[in-house]
Amino acid sequence: MYHHRVRYALLALSLLCWPGVADAQRTPPPLSEMAKEPFKVFDNLYFLGTGEVASYVISTSDGLILLDTLYGGPYTGYLIENMRKMGLDIADVKYVLIMQGHWDHYGGARELQDQHTKALFGAAEEDWKMIEADLGNQAPRRDFVIEEGDSLTLGDTTINFEITPGHTPGTTSMRFAVFDNGTRHEAYFHGGAAVRSRDAGVIRTFIADLERIGMIPDIEVQITNHFDTAATGAPDLFGRAERLARRKPGEPHPWVAPDDFHAWIDETVANTRELLADAQ
Ligand SMILES: [Zn+2]
Repeated sequence: MYHHRVRYALLALSLLCWPGVADAQRTPPPLSEMAKEPFKVFDNLYFLGTGEVASYVISTSDGLILLDTLYGGPYTGYLIENMRKMGLDIADVKYVLIMQGHWDHYGGARELQDQHTKALFGAAEEDWKMIEADLGNQAPRRDFVIEEGDSLTLGDTTINFEITPGHTPGTTSMRFAVFDNGTRHEAYFHGGAAVRSRDAGVIRTFIADLERIGMIPDIEVQITNHFDTAATGAPDLFGRAERLARRKPGEPHPWVAPDDFHAWIDETVANTRELLADAQ
């Protein structure tokens, strides 16, 4: 019943995330239409993104970790200003993690490196290759490569990485802890939750990864980097933000929703399986 909606959503996501467009043809969506107020999602997690693509900061006892960099250009100043609004300083960023090799996620990386931060930049090997093929000598400097099973510790915070290809060849996902007024919850952030390949092997790998992710014990929180389509599982991200802002003491945190997380896994697996019928 919802298949048409999901197919449309996959198409919409593919247009958002279409790689390989020459630089000169790249115009990000107007900032005036996409700008959103940043907000604190958890004690240690901040949303800094736009109406169509996320960037987050994880705060630790020893500095900040920035997840994705938006498009660059006017969005770089926007990102830095959103950090400032949250009381965060770009100078405190120690690591920048690029979770997928599509422009809306890495576009600001080079400018941040050149002008704003001494942080170390990491992505998966296959997506570094994508970015470098895309940008040539304008590509951001690669400081480190994220591999399957790697972890990154900064101060009191450890991130565990998984490489979950399908959206891009090196889509990077992560597990980490978030804290709601001091109460710990386990979060999963899938770096590219819609498959972008017609290769049956790639699609099967994407599905197998999702099924495995669904078996990880204790995941209660889903973090997403797109949220304007049903396929991302969080069409109501900004609605959640409003509920969070209105939350009264003792009420549950809108992001702590393990049933929603597992429903999203099941729905995404089911709909991705349908793509196998058209796969090569
Ligand atoms: Zn993408």
